[in-house]
Amino acid sequence: MMNHNEMLLLKLGEVVLKGLNRRSFEDRLVNNVRRRLKNCGSFQICVRQSTIYVEPKTDTCDMEAAFAACQQVFGVAAVARAVPCEKTVAAIVETAKTYLGGEFAGAKTFKVESRRADKTFPMTSIQLSQAVGGELAEAFPAVAVDVHAPSLTVHVEIREKYAYVHAPAVPGAGGLPVGMGGRAVSLLSGGLDSPVSSWMMARRGVELEMVHFVSPPYTSQQAQDKVLELARLLTPYCGRMIVHIVPFTEIQEEIRKNCPEEYFTLIMRRFMMRLAQGVAKKAGAKALITGESLGQVASQTMAALGVTEDVVSLPVLRPLIGMDKVEIICISREIGTYETSILPYEDCCTVFTPRHPATRPDLDAVREAESALDVDALVEKALSGENWVRVKA
Ligand code: ATP
Ligand code: MG
Repeated sequence: MMNHNEMLLLKLGEVVLKGLNRRSFEDRLVNNVRRRLKNCGSFQICVRQSTIYVEPKTDTCDMEAAFAACQQVFGVAAVARAVPCEKTVAAIVETAKTYLGGEFAGAKTFKVESRRADKTFPMTSIQLSQAVGGELAEAFPAVAVDVHAPSLTVHVEIREKYAYVHAPAVPGAGGLPVGMGGRAVSLLSGGLDSPVSSWMMARRGVELEMVHFVSPPYTSQQAQDKVLELARLLTPYCGRMIVHIVPFTEIQEEIRKNCPEEYFTLIMRRFMMRLAQGVAKKAGAKALITGESLGQVASQTMAALGVTEDVVSLPVLRPLIGMDKVEIICISREIGTYETSILPYEDCCTVFTPRHPATRPDLDAVREAESALDVDALVEKALSGENWVRVKA
């Protein structure tokens, strides 16, 4: 059980490697943490020595929820609780024994490192470390003191009201703080892949806007709601985001009417890329993200991917390109999108699918087939029919 006097310590990940950029990484991360914790209560948040300190300002803060929330913030490598106790050597030793018993069992050597925010505390940091270290050495005779290269460091902090002993850390979400990597538009379908690809790019610090193509009456309101729900499930990691809903029916009908069946899917995907790029331009986004994975379906062969991205100039990021489906499913379970993704609603990709799609398409032949359409007019019309929704946690 957590105690409301506890505080949380967030260890920065790769952020610490960023040299001159480090300040802006830290500032961004602190802001993201602050925003993420808004619903858990009022906190004092500050950075010291590659660690973010999250201290509750009131007794009403939900520390369990805050602990869980901090584990979902990209840029945080690990999260630990700091357990409060009375400001006496005896209480500090007791607390360390209780919370670090497991760590001591696995350690060969240890040291105590103390810090005093409360300078009126009667012992110096060194005296306190020696006193606590001496008692812990007696309590754990198998673990020797080594002040130079210990396998376990026990952190003690003396603050205004309490002393704190740092408890063991659990892994955080890793990656880089959202916003540091610029903005991209992610093509979000209702499938398993695109929520995972979105999450993976957000973990590299990319701020996302989503685009989703709908083809009523071939696709239903439930299918659209499912996609909005997937976006909502991603917000604890990615932050709140805009989902652009773009009408796609007319484009699909025109393709079916005027183009050879074997190219339906490819031409449709070329339109998706053009529309996504149109949305990106307006959003100031510098890349597109898809959930494509090499060889997964006919439109994801190397040749097909080349035909698809032929129509856009923005980089197309495909974080799943080299992943197996089982790995993708594993991530979707971990991040909590799996159960929603497998709900059986249709996607516009699944209507008008050709019986024999071209797997080794020739770019010139596809361009030629597509020239039966007024591409610019169709794109412009679809973009003018765009709606957007802001999705929050
Ligand atoms: P997913 O599981 O993400 O649906 P998929 O393996 O079913 O992917 P496709 O249906 O060929 O593959 O789609 C490939 C990618 O195109 C998707 O990962 C997604 O990024 C994008 N996409 C497909 N359908 C839509 C849609 N209706 N709206 C927006 N993007 C889409
Ligand atoms: Mg799909």
